[in-house]
Amino acid sequence: MTAAMAADRVRLLYAGLPLAILSHFLIAAALIPVLAGHTTDHRAWLWGGLLMAALCYRALISLQERRTPLDEANSHIWLYRFRFGAMATGCVWGLASLLLFPDGDIEKQLLLCFALTGLMAGAMASLSVDDLSLYGFTVPMLVPLFYQLGTADNGVALSTLAAVLAFLAFMAVSARRFSVSEHNNIRLRHEMQWRESELRRYEFIANTVSDLMGVISHDRRYEAVNDSWCRMMGKARESVVGERVESVWQAPLEVTEALTRCFSAGTQESLQTTIDFPAIGGRECFIACYPYRQQSGEVTHVVIVTRDITDLARSRRELEEARDVAERASRAKSEFLASMSHELRTPLNAILGFSQLFVMDETLSEDTRNCAGEIERAGHHLLALVNDLIDLARIESGNMDLTLEPVEVKSVIDHSLALIAPIAKKQQIRLLSAFAGVEAVRIHVDAVRLNQTLINLLSNAVKYNMPSGTVTLAARVEHGRIRISVTDTGKGIDAAAQSRIFNAFDRLGAERGTVEGTGIGLVITRRIVEAMGGSIGFSSTVGRGSTFWVEFPVCADRDVAMIDALATTELPATEATLLYIEDNEVNRWVMRRLVASRTSLHLLEAASAEEGIALARNALPDLILMDINLPGMDGYQALSVLKNMPETRDIPVVAASANAMKGDGDKGLAAGFDAYITKPVDARKLLAVVAQTICR
Ligand code: ADP
Repeated sequence: MTAAMAADRVRLLYAGLPLAILSHFLIAAALIPVLAGHTTDHRAWLWGGLLMAALCYRALISLQERRTPLDEANSHIWLYRFRFGAMATGCVWGLASLLLFPDGDIEKQLLLCFALTGLMAGAMASLSVDDLSLYGFTVPMLVPLFYQLGTADNGVALSTLAAVLAFLAFMAVSARRFSVSEHNNIRLRHEMQWRESELRRYEFIANTVSDLMGVISHDRRYEAVNDSWCRMMGKARESVVGERVESVWQAPLEVTEALTRCFSAGTQESLQTTIDFPAIGGRECFIACYPYRQQSGEVTHVVIVTRDITDLARSRRELEEARDVAERASRAKSEFLASMSHELRTPLNAILGFSQLFVMDETLSEDTRNCAGEIERAGHHLLALVNDLIDLARIESGNMDLTLEPVEVKSVIDHSLALIAPIAKKQQIRLLSAFAGVEAVRIHVDAVRLNQTLINLLSNAVKYNMPSGTVTLAARVEHGRIRISVTDTGKGIDAAAQSRIFNAFDRLGAERGTVEGTGIGLVITRRIVEAMGGSIGFSSTVGRGSTFWVEFPVCADRDVAMIDALATTELPATEATLLYIEDNEVNRWVMRRLVASRTSLHLLEAASAEEGIALARNALPDLILMDINLPGMDGYQALSVLKNMPETRDIPVVAASANAMKGDGDKGLAAGFDAYITKPVDARKLLAVVAQTICR
């Protein structure tokens, strides 16, 4: 029983109290004068006084209860008070049988019996909801009476006792039944209240949603609609409920068909259609029909939920259009980058090529060669900057080109350390390394990009270090991953600035210092590391330095076997003729000087594809190096001509182009080039490719 139900039960007891007090008073008033003659007066008055006291107590609690109504929290106190009053009254009535029993006067004995039996019947009706009150009242009242009747010396008293007992049994059964039904009443009343409040809650929910909701019965009549429905349809609820759907509004055919299917098949239906609302006109809507099944499985109702998706559909269309525009812009950006990359790298080719030649030319004065060295350094810096910017743009447009293969970590680390060593030395920074035990470790990355990553971290560690500081590169393998960390003894990074460290062009205040930088190195590094399946992070303490780390999964054994197979390929030195088809005079000149440094190589030159093809047919070179962007016939067309002529078909052709965008290399290889190298041509790389191709 809930607290609320218990409180209700106590209220019910108190409700019958005034009538009970009145009946007790009247019965006592009728009895006392009759019984007083058979006993001494003071006993009758004593008894009368006691009854009055009990009745007064009960009247008092009844009044109090009316003034301060009982609630769930205090109902048990009121119940104890009530039980006490009932028991006290029962005891006083029991006392009547002991004090005022009219010995020898059968008529008056019967009157007393009649009065007490009447009180018992009344109690059984009004106290049956609480067993303790009922028995607390009746037992002390009747036991002395039964005693008197049982010990009275006449047959009438005994017969009366038997009749009273039979009546008592009958009343007890009725009282039990009455008590059960009273309890049920209380429970049902509470259930009903609870259901009503539930219903109000659901009504509230249905009315607060912006979707239109309607409940339709099996005979296609509206049983309920929510506020949104009424608002959008411009109809009052009273005029809709009970009406057939078709008489309320002209639903589109697909809606009525979905409704029919929902009723007949019991399946949930949904559709999208345009609905003409009287309040706001035509709207694009999503409609869902939900079948409501009884326990028997029969679908008795269908709930139709209509959602206005006009704005959603519009924003989706806008989003799609925006995506198309963005894709077009991204394509345009890629094309722009391709041409920019070409335009910037071509002149750099000349700058770097000539400066390299001047540096290598021992006939020039020391001073001139130093100047050429400066030009070369500046050219490389410019190239790095151009590469960085193009890299960033390429990464941001999702066009990063990666060649993932098993790479020996140690060789990349060695290479990076060797590259950074001169810079560190110049800045008087001590370069330390601790990567014992990782010699045989290989990871699946792009070696060039890994090198770029380490160089970036190392150069930052050098750049942002203290004078005479230390940079330590460490590597260790743990749980199948290798962590390469670069620790410096610099000034560290302010905690507040740490969250911005991977933001593009944010130098965290370093732009005010003397250290050169662009603020995009770490952005590129992070993107590269993540694109290669690794992770990057750092920790830093102001005044003590920072540690930047990258982590990659270590290669499985089968990957390692593959690298070993590649490493064992040897390239024998041999005499060879190289045909270089290139329209740019400067590039040809650079190549001429380069080839001259290798006595085993002979160079033939052609300034156009047509000229090159003719030369190839006559001279049958060992290798053709072909520029792609040629006037007239381009490199691809020339390749196709060469591959279609029986005499030139087998000559390897290497593409040398300033087109360094993602996919250019793959495109070249797919077209049939044996290799694809990008300009500015790195002399050592070119020679390696040439040697490799000739020896195949
Ligand atoms: P850049 O070095 O060209 O400015 P980065 O993207 O490499 O750009 O670094 C961004 C910023 O992060 C730097 O400008 C510098 O303020 C800070 N930073 C990077 N590495 C370190 C480091 N090892 N110690 C202190 N600050 C660093």
